[in-house]
Amino acid sequence: MEITNGTVVSMDYALRNDEGTILDQSQPEQPLSYLHGHKNIIPGLESALEGKSAGDEVEVRVSPEDGYGEKNPALEQAVPIDRFQGIDNIEVGMQFQASTDQGPVSVRVVKVEDDQVTVDGNHPLAGEHLNFKVTVKDVRTASEEELAHGHVHQSDGCCGGGEDKSGGCGC
Ligand code: ZN
Repeated sequence: MEITNGTVVSMDYALRNDEGTILDQSQPEQPLSYLHGHKNIIPGLESALEGKSAGDEVEVRVSPEDGYGEKNPALEQAVPIDRFQGIDNIEVGMQFQASTDQGPVSVRVVKVEDDQVTVDGNHPLAGEHLNFKVTVKDVRTASEEELAHGHVHQSDGCCGGGEDKSGGCGC
């Protein structure tokens, strides 16, 4: 069966930057599943997989605009180190939740100077070309519940991490 809107795709994948460094990959025997056509994955990869079927191998280079967007310089800012009270060693790569007018944003420390810390609220892969190598393992029709929720459910009928508010699986 071909990948179209409303199918659940399982795939092995590896993601490299333009230097060839692996940024992310699925674990052996643990393919990633997603619901096609519901923006569960980045647009550039979703469109490259359209019409493929199990066994197909797809290699695609996704530009930032079809990936995680361009870097927004306004999301990078220097803040006084005394704002990080209670944290002894601020190091590059640490992540914090920052409260902003638009709600909480995850930021990464990108530079530490004497009394100043530069944090970046861009997605870590913003501005990167993303080189995906994908092997389609399985394509199936999504259940009505999956389509209604807009995401994949695990084989036990529910998805992990959902908060139970309704007596159902809550996701
Ligand atoms: Zn759900």
